[in-house]
Amino acid sequence: MARYLGPVCRLCRREKEKLFLKGNRCVTKCTLEKRNSPPGEQRGRPPRISDYGRQLREKQKLRQMYGILDKQFRSYFRMAEARRGVTWESLLQFLERRLDNVIFHLGLAVSRREARQLIGHGHFRVNNHRVDISSYLVEAGDIIDVREKSRKVIKKVMKITENREIPLWLKLNKAKVTAKVSKIPSQEEISVPVDEQLVIGFCSR
Ligand code: SF4
Repeated sequence: MARYLGPVCRLCRREKEKLFLKGNRCVTKCTLEKRNSPPGEQRGRPPRISDYGRQLREKQKLRQMYGILDKQFRSYFRMAEARRGVTWESLLQFLERRLDNVIFHLGLAVSRREARQLIGHGHFRVNNHRVDISSYLVEAGDIIDVREKSRKVIKKVMKITENREIPLWLKLNKAKVTAKVSKIPSQEEISVPVDEQLVIGFCSR
């Protein structure tokens, strides 16, 4: 699966917001605090931004937070639209259910980016089956665990992320390094700093 391999701090500079793409480093030594101008922008008056531009930036922010490419994002939006219920909630649920996002929330990786790498190396299992696809969508009741020979690596990561707040819809047994997806989160349980109207406005064009 194709993925963005360029400098990630540049993405935060573009959105003028911390997107927390580098794990703990984002808390201790954030590049944005030293350099917060968008890449390529001249000093002076910032350029005026159109309605379309605002919608685009908001969509990009959401996409980059989850570390996915445009094609994947559009396919989640199409699937969300095709579902019954609120499109925005369905879209967020697809994004949250991705295995890389779940591994990140559980603190088994410092960032979603690292989660994708660890998943690709086959460190995790879902319902006793090895899964090496980051976009795998978890279901309510799924059990996620770490392969026996990968425990040492993952426990090291867990020491770094021990203060991370785990969402209520995920239950982690730290001693056994096992987790359960207790339910699919509702919109209220998913906190993303983006404007729903702008993202939906862009995707519905
Ligand atoms: Fe973004 Fe983290 Fe880089 Fe700060 S350190 S600019 S939050 S990726």
